[in-house]
Amino acid sequence: MLEVALKRNRRIKKSLFIVFALFVLLTARIGFIQFVQGEELQTKAYVQQTMDRNINPKRGTIFDATGKVVLAMSATVETVTINPTNIAKENKEKVAREFANIFNLDYETTLKKVEKRSSIETIVKRVDKDKTNQLREWLEKNEITNGVNIDEDTKRYYPYNSLASHVIGFCGTDNQGLDGIELTYDSDLKGEKGKIAKIADGKGGGLLDEGEEYTPAIQGKDLVLSINMSAQAIVEKYLKEACIDNKCTDGGSILVMNPKTGDIIAMANYPDYNLNEPFEPNTDELKQVWETLSTGEKNTARQKTWRNKAIADSYEPGSVFKLLTASAAIEEGIATTDKEGAYNCGGGIEVGGVRIRCWRYYRPHGMQSLRQALMNSCNPVFIGLRPKDRKTKVL
Ligand SMILES: [Zn+2]
Repeated sequence: MLEVALKRNRRIKKSLFIVFALFVLLTARIGFIQFVQGEELQTKAYVQQTMDRNINPKRGTIFDATGKVVLAMSATVETVTINPTNIAKENKEKVAREFANIFNLDYETTLKKVEKRSSIETIVKRVDKDKTNQLREWLEKNEITNGVNIDEDTKRYYPYNSLASHVIGFCGTDNQGLDGIELTYDSDLKGEKGKIAKIADGKGGGLLDEGEEYTPAIQGKDLVLSINMSAQAIVEKYLKEACIDNKCTDGGSILVMNPKTGDIIAMANYPDYNLNEPFEPNTDELKQVWETLSTGEKNTARQKTWRNKAIADSYEPGSVFKLLTASAAIEEGIATTDKEGAYNCGGGIEVGGVRIRCWRYYRPHGMQSLRQALMNSCNPVFIGLRPKDRKTKVL
């Protein structure tokens, strides 16, 4: 009898000890979660419960020098996202089919997105409002109020396609400037994103109205360029003609500057490209071979297309400056334009002991007037133009 009682006593003690040990362990664990991991877990929960949807700001408009002609603008479009877990099971196929219908999407791919176990999926980006209105009507008619979000967004648009393409540049898929003015002035043009922060339950559904916070987007600033649209269009027209007529395979550039202010009135390169499709091939030659090119070759071709040669390439002005030399000589009265045989080209001229050749040294120009020398672009004549009391030996 005594033995049995002792045994029982020991068993009770053992059980008590185990219960006590478990209690200590659990307390320690609670303490660990509360005090050690607490902050981290709280952040995780907040991220899971609040679903931020960005509101994209409207990017600033780019005007020409008159301040009236729009060279780049942002049109209002809309982006459709979904919270898949919040779309009722029996509606999933229906919703996917309607998305595919309205936005010309592949049904299977869309259905996969709708059936995903994630909190947010993008269906289409930047579509016209008449499409999203169609979707709104359908949702209303089918009484689907949860899980589909339609948010305002903006899309960059260039009304004159290729006009001043190298100057203006273009934007990427997230409206960030990638080239030209769009890149250089990106921080002024882009504005600041706004936000809708919503407290959501575990499935991504909204928890009443409480906790919804709306931060409006700040619109980007507008820009007025010194480029005049009419001057730019004229310059581009004649540059293209000149390049084609003279078979300039490397293209050409023209810059028009107001000499009094330094303002650039027009800046053109040929060939140009369509700002609304900057990643597409821009010349017939490229279009023909485009599909056969590797990704690397395509990128190289694009870089070449986008290059603003008027400011990025160095070019030795050379004979262009003969005009300045000639003008100065006429103004100073040391030369007249049409005095026949006033100058002689012997194929070269010596300056400071160095002989500089005429480009046609092998068959010198001989006797010429200043006008003829300019037409012939004859080096020795222009090097030899000088005040009468200074001598340069003509060879
Ligand atoms: Zn010559």
